[in-house]
Amino acid sequence: MNMRFRFNSILICGFFLCSVGCAQTPTQWKPHDRNRPVPPVIEPGVSSTQDTPGKAPSDAIVLFDGKDLSAWSTKDGQPAKWKVGTGYFETVPKSGYMYTKQPFGDMQLHVEFATPSPAEGQDQDRGNSGVFLMGVYEIQVLDSYNNKTYADGQAGALYGQYPPLVNASRPPGQWQSYDIVFHPSKFDKDGKLIRLGRVTLFHNGVLVQDNVEIQGPTVTGEPDKPHADKLPLALQDHNHPVRFRNVWVRELAPSN
Ligand code: MG
Repeated sequence: MNMRFRFNSILICGFFLCSVGCAQTPTQWKPHDRNRPVPPVIEPGVSSTQDTPGKAPSDAIVLFDGKDLSAWSTKDGQPAKWKVGTGYFETVPKSGYMYTKQPFGDMQLHVEFATPSPAEGQDQDRGNSGVFLMGVYEIQVLDSYNNKTYADGQAGALYGQYPPLVNASRPPGQWQSYDIVFHPSKFDKDGKLIRLGRVTLFHNGVLVQDNVEIQGPTVTGEPDKPHADKLPLALQDHNHPVRFRNVWVRELAPSN
């Protein structure tokens, strides 16, 4: 590498780093300020394998530890009716949705699921469930492996609003993961919308929703309206015995 090229490369890299780093530096802190509070230290957890569920980060709220559904209830607060197996739980068709006892708003959410094997049915009638953020915004769970349906209804879709960027589905019976970053919509005290909610989703580690704006509840298709800061998370009973494991939440500070 000649000297001029190397010098220019350093300049370009320096400019790029500064333009990124400086733009993210709040004005109250100088760059590299040693008085700036450092982030809390956590244990990052362990990733799952097909055979073994992973472990949640140490600052997560575990919603299923492989043993019981004590963190969940029916919509009217009765004990959850879904089935618990060895290290997983499973939708009991026609038993109703499951809701977390604890409400959540801004959060990072990890969910693993496996659609029934062998697969039965087709289109929307195959391995259907859903992760309902705040109980009303559905991230679709579906067996989308060699199963054609409408784009905004396949696995990884924000149902009825955004198809996933790619179809990263694994075959039925295999464990799959959703990693979700969610920020709900905000309204002022008069009920006027300040900003729409946003969601980012990784399906099996692949980005499929990139900070998209949630237009409103996915079931009704209506515009969003004022709601509590936190509401229970729900899992859908769509009459298919979909399995779940290793479900955890990290609550996030509300975004501006
Ligand atoms: Mg569904």
